Amino acid sequence: MKLIFRYVGKHFGLFITAIIFLIIESVTEIFQPTYMSMIVDEGVTRADSSAIAHYGIIMLIIAGIDAGAAIVRSIFSARLGQMVAKDLRRDVYKKTQSLSLENIERISTASIITRITNDVTQVQDFVQGVTRIIFRAPIITVSAIVMIILRTPWLVPTMIIVIAISAFLIFLNLKIGYPKFAFLQKRTDRLNHVSREYLTSVRVVKAFNASETEHGRFNAASASLRDAGISAMRTMALFGPLINLTVNLSIVVLLWLAHSQDASQIGRVMASINYLTQIMMSLSMISMIFNRAVRAFASSERIGEILTEEPALKSPDTPLKPDIKGEVVFKNVSFSYPGAEMRTLTDISFSALPGQTIGIIGPTGSGKSTLVNLIPRFYDADSGGVFIDGVKVTQLDEHSLRSAVSTAAQRAVLFTGTIRENLMWGNPLATPEEIDSALRISCADEIVDRVENGLDTLLGQGGVNLSGGQKQRVSLARSLLKDPKILILDDCTSALDATTEAKVLRSLREYSGDITVLLISQRISTVRKADRILCIDEGRVQGFDTHDELMKTCDCYKAIYRSQIGN
Ligand code: ADP
Repeated sequence: MKLIFRYVGKHFGLFITAIIFLIIESVTEIFQPTYMSMIVDEGVTRADSSAIAHYGIIMLIIAGIDAGAAIVRSIFSARLGQMVAKDLRRDVYKKTQSLSLENIERISTASIITRITNDVTQVQDFVQGVTRIIFRAPIITVSAIVMIILRTPWLVPTMIIVIAISAFLIFLNLKIGYPKFAFLQKRTDRLNHVSREYLTSVRVVKAFNASETEHGRFNAASASLRDAGISAMRTMALFGPLINLTVNLSIVVLLWLAHSQDASQIGRVMASINYLTQIMMSLSMISMIFNRAVRAFASSERIGEILTEEPALKSPDTPLKPDIKGEVVFKNVSFSYPGAEMRTLTDISFSALPGQTIGIIGPTGSGKSTLVNLIPRFYDADSGGVFIDGVKVTQLDEHSLRSAVSTAAQRAVLFTGTIRENLMWGNPLATPEEIDSALRISCADEIVDRVENGLDTLLGQGGVNLSGGQKQRVSLARSLLKDPKILILDDCTSALDATTEAKVLRSLREYSGDITVLLISQRISTVRKADRILCIDEGRVQGFDTHDELMKTCDCYKAIYRSQIGN
């Protein structure tokens, strides 16, 4: 609620303008039944045509003002809703950028998307709805009550009963509806999650003929969203008509009571029926806005959860921004993923000097990627420390740290755009010479030469029009363009054929100079020329030495060697 106030407050001018026109609209609506009763009582029953014309013209003018005010109010309230929605989307998106991977994984990408889209729309609908009825409903209700008291006092008891019953129904509506709508949003999250997973892995699903299974998962999520929707809407479907029924019944009571009144009161009775209808409309509007409020509050809570989420990685109070040279030291580092029962890394110690290439080898799942992810602080170690140039990474300014570290991963992530745009994403100031050099080192120049539009070739979403190996090379070139001090190559040559991989590694050795290179691979042939090789298994260091020494001392390394190259 506070969140909605805060965001509406940012566009107070729009809000106030909408409200001013809303008040004009409400006041004009209130006078209409009174003038209608005057036309009947003073014009029709007395057959006075000039009175009919006089009050008719006044009514027309009032109706004109009413329509004009309604148009202006609609424009301003729609604009306000859009502005609030835009601000919310921007802030949630910006916030997710500052969150760490741990936060994002816990909240889930699907849920973040639902919050940026569906939840924001709920708040927008509410803001728009509120500027349609806030003040209007109370003004109309109170004025209609006053008019009824003044003009038909014998109706007051009926009116009190109607309002009391309606207020009780609105309260019940809110109480029952709130948890149902909160649940509905969760089911929407689930459906988004399932659809997203299917759509991002559509090739695998097709290759495994798993469409049936995926349909099943999707249908289950969709059916559960349907059930949640039906349950929530059933509550809403019940209360709106119940309020209408209450007021309609009261009109019947009113007509029954009216039979004892004399004929000169016909206009007044008609006006009171009108006022009661206006009260009914206002109460329905209030109940409708409460429905929206229920959804909007559930949504704003979910949006608020992201906006107030504390990044799992704490920034240092006084971040250090040294000129990073690239020495990397792990001292007794242990790490477990949040919620995991087993440790992923245990007591890891090793060091890498600027200019050195450190190979990291070990079976799948041994913790190689996890280990290097601690360097740019995608996660923080539970105990021990990762140091760069003698400073713990947790003390470094995050931006300086991540500028110095560049990663090329096995699963190369490219964006929709040209090859050039993808490359310059790593360094917007890269010169054509630097781009050429990065392409040459990563052997991606062959790819660019072969495609019709060269660097201006458009890549589809995720680089779909490139093969796995081509994507890896473009992504490696992007990492090089960042001109890092520490280069992490996380199995990023796995999809290359042996000749191209050898060529890339040779160029990298020539290029690396004083860069610290951490070269992860499962292949001995990839790491054997590294200055030193860290062999890990089940998250523990098994050996840290040159290839020749490891072949003498490290059983784990020898086993990998035997399995790949033989005795
Ligand atoms: P490697 O790179 O050697 O193949 P990883 O570092 O990717 O190994 O994974 C090591 C272990 O950590 C695996 O058991 C994997 O399941 C687990 N793991 C990896 N990433 C996550 C994550 N984001 N959340 C939870 N567990 C993870």
